[in-house]
Amino acid sequence: MTDRIPATLIEGDGIGPEIMQATLAVLDALDAPFTWDRQAAGMAGVDAAGDPLPGATIDSIAHTGLALKGPLTTPVGGGFKSINVTLRQRFGLYANLRPTRTVVPGGRFDNVDLVVVRENIEGLYAAMEHYLPCGDDPRGLAYGAGFNSRAECRRIVRFAFEHAVANGRKKVTLVHKANILKILSGIFLEEGRKVAAEYEGRVAVDERIVDACAMQLVIAPQSYDVIVTTNLFGDILSDLAAGLVGGLGMAPGANIGEKAAIFEAVHGSAPDIAGQGIANPLALLMAASLMLAHVGRQDLATRLDSGIDKVIRKDGLRTRDLGGQVNTHELTAALVQAV
Ligand code: NAD
Repeated sequence: MTDRIPATLIEGDGIGPEIMQATLAVLDALDAPFTWDRQAAGMAGVDAAGDPLPGATIDSIAHTGLALKGPLTTPVGGGFKSINVTLRQRFGLYANLRPTRTVVPGGRFDNVDLVVVRENIEGLYAAMEHYLPCGDDPRGLAYGAGFNSRAECRRIVRFAFEHAVANGRKKVTLVHKANILKILSGIFLEEGRKVAAEYEGRVAVDERIVDACAMQLVIAPQSYDVIVTTNLFGDILSDLAAGLVGGLGMAPGANIGEKAAIFEAVHGSAPDIAGQGIANPLALLMAASLMLAHVGRQDLATRLDSGIDKVIRKDGLRTRDLGGQVNTHELTAALVQAV
């Protein structure tokens, strides 16, 4: 019998329970090795424990070091801290992994297959900002700063190269703005080049200024393999990349640290369609595939990815957001058969 792997499961709000049910059905069909510890967060956390990120949920992730998370509705007002930012900081989830590949054919690009690796805890996301007086206006000027440490730059670039090696990818592109932010972005490029040199002969390295990268992604996304970059640039480029292949409904994400990893769909809780049984579960399923690969079950991840390809590409099944008519249940049933 396969060894079971304890993992935290957060259903999420809105369409969360529907897409999580679909995902669990497919994982069951794959005989995935996870033993789930169900915990609440988001509005469900507020309802259960008066907190969008209850202590029990944090304790569970600290214990399992692994979580599959549905989308969470951000409570409005109440001074709650962002759940995602809290999780990143609490567990040191320094790498954000956002694969983008064409699943639905017939779009603008039929053969996109790239990964954006975003540094997740430094950069301009430090949000060290304040107003300064200017003229008569005490808040006439906004000032903001960010920071990138050499150690973190090395760690994220090494993560990208290791990901490339482990997944048979051929090229890593360092994306920066070192021509203008000579220090803040320059340090990333400097350290990135050093790490890249260690992989010479195994993985090719390339460099792009972020604005040129954005343009080239729109014109020829096929020319990219792995992109590694700092926090804010990665935030923007990973959504741009998702837009090339059908939007956030098709975008999985992983937040990975030394001690914990959290896998999720990039989209939100879609309150406008919650409870209707029409949500697209593919992004969460792709997140589950990343989770399987993370725990060393690439065999199951490959089966899951191939099952998705078969159902979407060959059988032509589509939920409404992809212009089709099948509901979540029908798509799930087909996926259960396909894997
Ligand atoms: P959203 O991603 O929930 O929805 C945007 C649009 O995309 C909606 O029309 C929705 O119906 C559609 N959509 C999204 N996912 C879909 C799916 N799987 N299948 C079919 N259609 C889908 O973004 P929003 O409306 O701006 O946010 C709603 C809530 O989600 C907010 O409270 C927001 O804070 C939260 N949110 C959470 C996360 C997260 O937990 N990771 C991410 C983004 C937004």
